[in-house]
Amino acid sequence: MRRALLLATLLASGPAVAKGGRAAAPPPAPRLVLQITVDQLRGDLLARYLDRMGPDGFRWLVDHGTSYAACHHRHANTETVVGHSTLATGADPAGHGMIGNTWYDRDAGRLRYNFADDDHPLLPVSDAAPKAGSGRSPAALRVPTVADSIALAGQGAAVVYSVSLKDRAAIAMAGHAGTALWFTKGAQAFVTSDFYVDAYPAWLTAWNARGVLASYAGKAWTLTHPRDTYRARVDHPSWEVPPDAAFGRDFPHPFGTADDPDFAERVLTGPAGDALLADFAVAVLDAEPFGKDDVVDYLSVSFSSNDLVGHAFGPSSLESEAELLGLDGAVASLLRAVDARVGLDRTVVVLSADHGAPEAPGEAAAVAHLDAGWLPSDLTALPEVRASVADALGIAQAAVPGLVATYYHPYLYLDVVAVRAAGLEPVDVARAFAAAFAHLHGVATALPLDDVRQGRVDPDTPMLAAIRRNDVPDRSGDVYVLLAPYWQLPHGGVGGQDVGVIHGSPYAYDTWVPLVFAGAGIGHRTVERPVATVDVAPTLAALTGVVAPAGAVGTPLVEVLERRSSR
Ligand SMILES: [Zn+2]
Repeated sequence: MRRALLLATLLASGPAVAKGGRAAAPPPAPRLVLQITVDQLRGDLLARYLDRMGPDGFRWLVDHGTSYAACHHRHANTETVVGHSTLATGADPAGHGMIGNTWYDRDAGRLRYNFADDDHPLLPVSDAAPKAGSGRSPAALRVPTVADSIALAGQGAAVVYSVSLKDRAAIAMAGHAGTALWFTKGAQAFVTSDFYVDAYPAWLTAWNARGVLASYAGKAWTLTHPRDTYRARVDHPSWEVPPDAAFGRDFPHPFGTADDPDFAERVLTGPAGDALLADFAVAVLDAEPFGKDDVVDYLSVSFSSNDLVGHAFGPSSLESEAELLGLDGAVASLLRAVDARVGLDRTVVVLSADHGAPEAPGEAAAVAHLDAGWLPSDLTALPEVRASVADALGIAQAAVPGLVATYYHPYLYLDVVAVRAAGLEPVDVARAFAAAFAHLHGVATALPLDDVRQGRVDPDTPMLAAIRRNDVPDRSGDVYVLLAPYWQLPHGGVGGQDVGVIHGSPYAYDTWVPLVFAGAGIGHRTVERPVATVDVAPTLAALTGVVAPAGAVGTPLVEVLERRSSR
């Protein structure tokens, strides 16, 4: 086995000359792009556990493919929809428009969820109507994806699907042409909206009727190997905070009964969620004609469970290690299914992640003696901020809250109408808040975005560039707040400080992700030079001979293209 592997490696790295001295024939044209994304997979985590993984999953990708050791997202807001949209489009959020999982809609006067679209309701999976506000479409995504390019090249004959436990992960990768399918905990089923299809296909209804989630009722997430074989320190102080008390802080983590309101969340927080998604992805492969002709097809599979585990238990926890070892089995089953149906020699496989994650603030403080901690979710409510802003603007402290539309980290949104009605200029108010935020313990800096847009902020650091690449004037706020490293504040649907870990910063622990291209004649190699996630979509386009997505600003990765063309 080792000999065969070594021989394959030698052949792969040898000169491009076949037996008899003639140039080797180019590898057959790819028929499928399989884009695998692992939610919250920081750049160091695969290597940490790779020697414990089987030969057919992550290790197959790393042992046979081209790996980039220094791939980073180059935008500031390292969240799920932002990272997925960047991987899909090759654009920065300033170009694709998806600046965060949630932003303040100034016209509507309320927060909006990224791909929410009341014009495209979910298709019901039972007699019960989908709940209000659950409609979804890619309308907010402002540029095409590589899946859109593949669909256009196929002139309607390309098969383009995207699946995930999360709606925003499935929708971003499907683009506008593909069919996005995602799991809802409420219906305990894979669903989609009427943007994508008029009615559920019979195979999807049949999959939902199998009751895969319900089959976990009464069971528990248990360790599959002896506890002392895991790398995570079991005597290490515990920072983990389970999704709910009954799930527990230690193995086994019981799922409870199917009628428990937290049942679905518990099953999806761990390898059972990965197995469920892989099973569904294989059902999609069986149902739709992937790789059956010379038209290139596209399938995105985005695994979400690693993110749920990371938020609750932290990226270095025993739970995170057990999750990644379990996910490896799900990836292996997916790769085997693709090999049997299309052939990995005719499939371009790419693996990356939407973002990384920090260690929990408590762990950063205890282990590395870092100054780390928590701030409240609304920085404008702090008395010292109100006093500072009132003093700077010469107004009463009681008048300060009226100037704010909302604080949704990392952005402060001003109520511009109220600001002007008070006889103030928005830029002056933004500067007053930025100065007040910057004085807080746990805040690295705060920038009035109008000053950033007008080029009035010096010097132009990489951090400032990341903030600018995330800036969309009608979606981003009036002030950007950069927390100090390992400082966090609760936001979004995550409630209170009782959460282990929150990502979303421009720091390396959040921006660093794996990037591996494999299959379809791509050679084995590790590349050390820094690359960016905006390079992924242009590389996929170049590998499959389709036009790069219109908003792409990245560069095709020569190491992948050269290896393929020289085989
Ligand atoms: Zn997350």
